[in-house]
Amino acid sequence: MGARMPASESLPSSSSPRFDSGDTPPGADGAGPGHPRPLRREFKARGSFVRRCEGCNLPELNCLCPYQVKAESDAQVWLLTHPLEHYKPTNTGRLIGDVLAQTRVFSWYRTAPDVQLAALLEDPRYAPFVIFPDDQPDYADRVVDIGAVHAAKRQPRIPVFVVLDGTWRQARRMFRKSPYLDTLPVLPLRTERETRYRLRKPASKAHLCTAEVAIELLRQSGDEAAAGALDDYFDVFNDSYAASRFYHKIDEITPAMQRLLDRQGVD
Ligand SMILES: [Zn+2]
Repeated sequence: MGARMPASESLPSSSSPRFDSGDTPPGADGAGPGHPRPLRREFKARGSFVRRCEGCNLPELNCLCPYQVKAESDAQVWLLTHPLEHYKPTNTGRLIGDVLAQTRVFSWYRTAPDVQLAALLEDPRYAPFVIFPDDQPDYADRVVDIGAVHAAKRQPRIPVFVVLDGTWRQARRMFRKSPYLDTLPVLPLRTERETRYRLRKPASKAHLCTAEVAIELLRQSGDEAAAGALDDYFDVFNDSYAASRFYHKIDEITPAMQRLLDRQGVD
């Protein structure tokens, strides 16, 4: 998965400028691009030195490691991650790789396309879809719906969701400035789901974070078990990280935690 922060990384404080226009809403709906906005004042850590777990990169207070599960899925998720996103511990793209072992992560650089990704996109075993809203007319001829994913499975090919992992602005840039994506079918995510992500403030509840986008795509394309496991894992990440920002230790096992623990018992 993406780069991990060193274990001594402190939590973001009000003095560190950050932008939050979202952890990747592009698949979420047809809404326009968000504008990066400085986060509202965040809890300033007293002493501001937070020990992070080397396994999950969360503050040690509520470590995610006991809840790690693996799941199998027919479809794969390939993340094209903006370089700035790799360094944010609040990034949820990495959760996908924790649960689904076949996940691939590529770094996006405008002037140096990833050679391996370009080659994989040409590999006939895969049926890649770039996840992006269908709100502009110039690529309307490439827009497909979830039925195309089911059709790919019947061929049979491995459906791949290429998710642009960055802020709205970054995702639009990646979509527009990556020639190797220009021939792919564009799959907009259609969902009623509202985001539950609590670590960055979304411009709209309809803007899902990266993990939530993957969860909904998996669910709609028939990988319900994998979607459920990732959803629970995302839930625990979300709760654990949010609680740690306020130095609160979660003592009660949440329903999502319990389902993940039960799942480990089964494996
Ligand atoms: Zn951990």
